[in-house]
Formats: sequence, structure tokens, C-alpha cells
Amino acid sequence: MHTDSLHRKYLAERDKRLRPDGQSQFVEAKGDLADFAHGPSTSPPPARAALKEDVDVLVVGAGFGGMLTGAELRDAGIENFRIAEVGADFGGTWYWNQYPGIRCDIEAYLYLPRLEEVGTVPTERYATGREIFEHSQRFARHYRLYERALFHTKVVRIAWDEPSSRWHVRTDRGDELRARFVTLNQGPLAKIKLPGVKGIRDYKGKIFHSARWDYGFSGGNSDGGLTKLEGKRIGVIGNGATGVQILPKVAQHAQQIYLFQRTPSAIAPRNNRPTDLDWYKSLPKGWQRERKDSFLATVRFTFPVEDLVDDCWTDFYVRVANAVAAAKRAGGPVDVVAVMQGVDYTKMDEVRAHVAAVIKHPATAEASKPWYNFLCKRPLFSDDYLQAFNKPNVTLVDTDGRGIERITESGLVANGQAYALDAIVFATGFDVGAAPNKAGEYELVGRNGLTLDQKWANGVRTVHGTQMAGFPNLHIVGAVAQGTIVFNYTNVLDIQAHHAVEQIAQCLKSGVKTQEVTEAAETRWLRAMRKNHHDLSDFHEECTPGFLNNEGKFKDKPTFVGSSYGAGTLEYRRVTDEWRQTRMAKETRRA
Ligand code: NAP
Repeated sequence: MHTDSLHRKYLAERDKRLRPDGQSQFVEAKGDLADFAHGPSTSPPPARAALKEDVDVLVVGAGFGGMLTGAELRDAGIENFRIAEVGADFGGTWYWNQYPGIRCDIEAYLYLPRLEEVGTVPTERYATGREIFEHSQRFARHYRLYERALFHTKVVRIAWDEPSSRWHVRTDRGDELRARFVTLNQGPLAKIKLPGVKGIRDYKGKIFHSARWDYGFSGGNSDGGLTKLEGKRIGVIGNGATGVQILPKVAQHAQQIYLFQRTPSAIAPRNNRPTDLDWYKSLPKGWQRERKDSFLATVRFTFPVEDLVDDCWTDFYVRVANAVAAAKRAGGPVDVVAVMQGVDYTKMDEVRAHVAAVIKHPATAEASKPWYNFLCKRPLFSDDYLQAFNKPNVTLVDTDGRGIERITESGLVANGQAYALDAIVFATGFDVGAAPNKAGEYELVGRNGLTLDQKWANGVRTVHGTQMAGFPNLHIVGAVAQGTIVFNYTNVLDIQAHHAVEQIAQCLKSGVKTQEVTEAAETRWLRAMRKNHHDLSDFHEECTPGFLNNEGKFKDKPTFVGSSYGAGTLEYRRVTDEWRQTRMAKETRRA
């Protein structure tokens, strides 16, 4: 198709999906729907006495952010800390998300934190959720984090107490913790979301969110063997990274599976492979950081650099860089945006050709072709999702951008047609980008009664996304807004956990009781954000709606305040490291 026609087609497909309710089309798992957020286990948490404790550091959340913060604390020789976690183990997103087929799309050699230190050897390039969860447990044992963990414990209030210069923290287990420092480690996928359609409570069959898979109902585990689904009709709503992984496993057992699609995903082959142990053993000390840095550089076009990773993510960036270099060699001015768009059209043509080559049923293949730019939605990688549509028990219900209409007693309605179902799975994602207190559902009250909601009423205000005036001795780990973002999210956590603990350790060592960034420092960071900002609003506005572009209303979001630092993650790390050496003394109030 000619590029002008493609552009028109992309815009027409976007327009079909734009909705006036934007983000508010989704509802939270609370009130009448609160049970969607509970784990499938019905056994009560083990009894324990409420704690009254003074600690140097309270880590809120035991996902990768909390684990890395714990490891940094151990590295710094800080022993008096606690990690509070709602779930029953370490792992965060990998604790909650154990749905069938779960796997990480970032190669394990990049994604799994501290492989060299912990001694895990990933068995495959793209690890299963089970293997990642097991690494989390090994990680926690390695850094002796279990002895500091308070599981089944939800923090409900974190409030600064001026007289004692401590955070007073209350939990739903009746604990009263007094912490010198607090780190907030909620992560962007902590809060599930559901479509705000009518009838959810009318449904009489089994219904749950993908992040709370019920193996009591399905049988088996995340590797498969869902034998209890035999003879059952299953509806999966959503075909993002999650739905795409669930479908093939469920299709192995269910009598019939219906995938209700609103927008086709862009799916490239995954090409997974077992780890070559000879190669792995030959890697020199420090290899993981070098590999991660190569990835960070490549996805920032920081060339020349050797693309050590060479995967589905870096492929796109290397192609763009090569196309720009070729245009420069040809002479004359180079329109980088136009070159990039050309590469994008080619890439998406390949994605569409792949769909056509794999799916045999012509109408299903046509409905599975995505019509938008490669990075409009999170790209997906799979070797069994498209293939599953060739099975007789798998049906794509394409809703041409409209989504499901309503849920009934016996199933759901889409395209005006009723589907009778024995179970409905919401693979409808998460409230990505929720503020830490929203994601963790606790009250956060700083100096002089200032709440985080008040502080951010007119937009996020921070230094580096991680520290705030009015909130002394408090660090956000995993901050994207005014922090940094990259596909390999554990990179963000590495940097911010290190940044937080370096400061905490310095304060503890030098007897500094409170350290608080100044308002002037926040203003300077905003200026740095503005200086490095790339205005991608036109790109995002032309994208099909999704969580990456505020459901198509990108320009409604405040620009600098909510976005990430524009100079990239490597530069963010350099800037935060440098800040501790050269600016911290000037930009913080210490007592
Ligand atoms: P998601 O990407 O937000 O996808 C949600 C899906 O639900 C979309 O397909 C969406 O359609 C659909 N949907 C929402 N409302 C609907 C409605 N009313 N009717 C029909 N469909 C509806 O969520 P996710 O798949 O859970 O992934 C979230 C993030 O988790 C990913 O971006 C990734 O960061 C992470 N993740 C990673 C992996 C991995 O590494 N392999 C696996 C799982 C999750 P539209 O596209 O039309 O909005």
C-alpha cells in the first residue's frame, strides 16, 4: 500500500477507536468489584502479633523494586529494615501474574536482576514466569530478605512525624512501624483494571482478571496442563501482552475459546532458544551491566555501539539508524522523522505479512492485522498466538474497535451477538502510571499534613521523579513520571534503588536525621526536563488508543510534568550519580 494510503488507513482505524470516556472507560477493582483484586486462595494469612518497631528503613513492596532496594541495603551494610508486602512472597508482578503461558518479552539476560551475584542461569533466552518467580525467591534468599519481610501486610498510612523525625507507618495487620526512611516500590502494574461494561455482577460463571488466575478452576499451572477446562467454553477479553500468552495454553484444553479483540496487536516472532551454556559460562565478570548498557544505548540511537542484544526490540532501532546513515551518505538534508516513518511502514508491513502467512482463515487473518505505527502499542513477540487461530476450537471475535458490549448471566455480548461462556478472563491490563499511593492504596502524608494528592494536584513535582519537597527521607523507586522509562524496566529499578540507598547510607553514616530536597531543586529539575523534552505529542495523537497515549488523549496530559526525562536512561543514571556528588548538598535541606 502507498504510504499516503497507509497513513489514511492508520488514522481511520484510530478514529474508530477514539472514545469520549478515554481512561474512564475502565473501572477499579474496588467496592462491589473488590474481589477481583484478591488472590484465588481463600485461606486466611498466617496469624502473627502486630509489631511496634523502630527501623532505619521501611521498604513498601516486595517486587523487583523492593528486592533491589533490599539488596542495595545489604550491600551498604544496613541491617535494620523491613519490607512490607500485600502478597505472600517476593516477585511483585511475577508473584501476582502466574497465568498460563506467562513469559517475559525482554530477554532474561537483561531482565532478571543481578544474575551474576545471585548465580541464576536462565534456561532460555525468554524466561517463563515460573523461572522468573523462582529467581525472585533465590534473590531474596541470597540477600537474606525473607528474614526482613512482612508478607500479607498492606501498608495503609505513611505519615511524617515532625517531633521524632520519622515516618509513622500503619498496616492492616495492626503494625506500628516508625521508620527513619521509607522507599515506595509499587511498580507500574500493581493495580488491575476492568472494562466498565454493564453486567459484570450478573454473570453466574467463573470470572477473574488475568493477574489473579484461578488454577483451582482451570487445573494445571503456568506451564499448562489446564485439564479442568476440558469441555468448557472460555472467553478471553483482551489481546495485549497477557491475552496473547494465555490463548495458546487455554486452547490446548478448552472445548472452545473465544478471543474478544478490540484492536489487533503487532506480533513479531519471538525466536526463543535455550541458553547456550558454553556461551554463558564464557561471559566475563560484569557482562550483565555491559549487556544492559548496550541495550539502553541502542534503543536511544546512541551509535556507534555494538548491539550486543540483537533482539526484536533493538532490531527496529538498528534499522532506523542504518536508514539514517544511508540517507546521510546519499547527501543532502536528512529528515530523520520521515526516515523513521519509512522504516516503520516497512516493519509493520512485515508484521502484517507474518499474520497473513500464519493464519489460514482469510477473514481471521485480515482482522488480525494491526494498522498503526510499531511503537504506538507495546510490540509483542510470540510463536504460538497467531498459530492458535488455526485450531478448530479457537475463534477470534473481532469487534472492529468497539470492544465487548455487556456481560450477561450466561456470557457476554459482542457485535450484537450473545456468547454463552463457562468462564470469562479479563486480560484488560493495569492502571499504568498510577501514583504510588494510588497503586499501593495507602495514605501518604508529608510535612505539615501535606498529602501526596495535594502535592501533585497541579501535576507531578519531584527531583528525578524520586524525591519531593515536603516529604523528607522518602524515595520513590520505579518512578517513571519525571524519572526514566525504558523497555527493560528493571534498569529503572536498578538505578533508582541505588540512588535511594546511596543517600540513605550517607545520612545514616553521617548522623543526618532528615534530608529533604528543596522546592528550588524541583524547579531546576523541571527546567532540565523541559530542556531535554522531545515533543512526541503528534506521534502519540495519531496512534491507536491505549495506555501509552492516554487512550488517544495524549495532549490532555500535562507535558513535562508527567513525562519521563527525555535524555534517556543512561543519561538519567549519569545525572543522578553526578547529583549525589555535586548538587545534593546544595539542593537538600539537612538536619
Ligand atoms: P494491555 O496491554 O493494557 O492490554 C489490554 C487489552 O484489553 C487490550 O487488548 C485492550 O484492547 C483490551 N480491552 C480493554 N478493554 C476492552 C473492552 N472493553 N473490550 C475488549 N477488549 C478490551 O494489558 P496486558 O496485556 O495485561 O499488558 C500490560 C503490560 O504488562 C504490557 O504492556 C507489559 O508491559 C506487561 N506485560 C508483559 C508481558 C511480557 O513481557 N510478555 C506479559 C504480560 C504483560 P485495546 O488494545 O483496544 O485497548
